[in-house]
Amino acid sequence: MRILIVEDEHRIANSIKKGLEQERYAVDVAYTGTDGYDLASTEDYDLILLDIMLPEMNGIEICKELRKNKIHIPILMLTAKGQTEDKVVGLDAGADDYMTKPFSFDELLARVRALTRRKGTIVNTNLSVEDLVLDKKLFSVKRDGQEIKLSSKEFSLLEYLLANKKTIVTKDQIITHVWDYDADILPNTIEVYIKNLRNKIDKPFNNKKPLINTVRGFGYKIGS
Ligand code: CA
Repeated sequence: MRILIVEDEHRIANSIKKGLEQERYAVDVAYTGTDGYDLASTEDYDLILLDIMLPEMNGIEICKELRKNKIHIPILMLTAKGQTEDKVVGLDAGADDYMTKPFSFDELLARVRALTRRKGTIVNTNLSVEDLVLDKKLFSVKRDGQEIKLSSKEFSLLEYLLANKKTIVTKDQIITHVWDYDADILPNTIEVYIKNLRNKIDKPFNNKKPLINTVRGFGYKIGS
């Protein structure tokens, strides 16, 4: 899951980024309205956290402009305390939800989960294929009842594959959804991660059909 934060107050933006990264989201930050609009309209995000009062271009304008250009990434507006009229204007402009600052991080997380779920990428906290189950909330993966230990990035990669199970995902799609903009990941790196993942979820179960399939020239697919 990849999230864009558009917020000019560096302290707030950076603390949200840090918190979301701990929850294994890939996060980019834009500190001005135009930077935010440029990223939102060119990169493939799963969610945008959008402040309203921003330099250069405000959150309402960004929202309207994105929707006008048929970009339907879920948007969670961040409004300052007391500006109730902003909520209505924000929702009218095409935002999906709003939160009033200051907010609790737990509430933010709950809304982030709800909005990314609404998009259909994650149906619930459990994702599975055949006898493999990933529990997003417990950060656990089991195959055939056996616990499998994954690194944080391996977990995010598996989560992305499972959210798109039985469909082919390209290396570029993986890079876009699992890593943030600054990560500078090369397609070869994805091969390494896939190999590590196979060593953990397929290799120890060599009496079973492998779950991760390479679709030569296209990408990868989990499940057949
Ligand atoms: Ca602001």
